[in-house]
Amino acid sequence: ATPTAVMVGTGVGASKGVLIKGGQALESAHKVNCIVFDKTGTLTIGKPVVVNTKLLKNMALKEFCVLVAATEVNSEHPLAKAVVEYAQKFKEEDDNKTWPEAQDFISITGHGVKAIVQNKEVLVGNKSLMLDQNIFIPIEAEEILKEIEEMAQTGILVSIDRKLTGVLAISDPLKPSAREVISILKAMKVKSIMVTGDNWGTAKSIANEVGIDDVTAEAKPDQKAEEVKRLQSLGHTVAMVGDGINDSPALVAADVGMAIGAGTDIAIEAADIVLMKSNLEDVITAIDLSRKTFSRIR
Ligand code: ADP
Ligand code: MG
Repeated sequence: ATPTAVMVGTGVGASKGVLIKGGQALESAHKVNCIVFDKTGTLTIGKPVVVNTKLLKNMALKEFCVLVAATEVNSEHPLAKAVVEYAQKFKEEDDNKTWPEAQDFISITGHGVKAIVQNKEVLVGNKSLMLDQNIFIPIEAEEILKEIEEMAQTGILVSIDRKLTGVLAISDPLKPSAREVISILKAMKVKSIMVTGDNWGTAKSIANEVGIDDVTAEAKPDQKAEEVKRLQSLGHTVAMVGDGINDSPALVAADVGMAIGAGTDIAIEAADIVLMKSNLEDVITAIDLSRKTFSRIR
């Protein structure tokens, strides 16, 4: 393609809300034969909703929710937003304008969060978080988790003062276009793979719904990037599509990193292409545009 064709291609992309950061990105996209998709916020809507709460200890639901929300309000994670939203009704009941203050807040990427609220240590996250923090997970909690995962929902564990106190079931449905996008890509001879930090149970249920056979779950940010590199070492030209901080190493490692426009700034910076309208269909728009630009017969 001539420099002019590349300029035109980039311009057409921009007019469609597909921001292509330079000629190299546009060129690489036409060779892509394998796409790694993040799950949460990429294949799913990314606006998860708490659909159920199970308390394992004798604690008022309200107190539990306030402690959890006061911790999660410090996190940018979509699951955290769901938890805070769910607890909102308890805050309003009290006419409170703010959550209790959280001290020593830390966020453990891909695992969850931790803080001290009202002199209690609160941990909110997945099984690995609890295991890393030496919190015992009773059989009862394991069973609740399994049921939640079979419904393609995510179970979030809460420990208060080092005791597993409750489980939240969070539902994050697929984007309406997700299934069709995967099926069109298949017709375009592009293989789709899903990587997620979420647990294996939920990941497999979601992959099954969207029509993806190849899944890696419980992946830390580095492992997402490793998966991209593994596929490259098999000779594939790999695109990564993601929205989160946790996707940025993989977005950088990929031949073409594509960020969802509604995603975090760090992902957008790490990407070569930004899907400004946050439409999954624009993954296809980008590849089409590149194929057209680089297969032009002159
Ligand atoms: P994904 O790759 O699907 O976008 P992440 O890597 O962001 O997922 O998160 C992986 C898992 O870590 C989540 O499914 C959740 O179990 C846990 N997690 C991460 N951050 C939080 C948080 N702020 N609150 C609760 N759980 C969290
Ligand atoms: Mg994500």
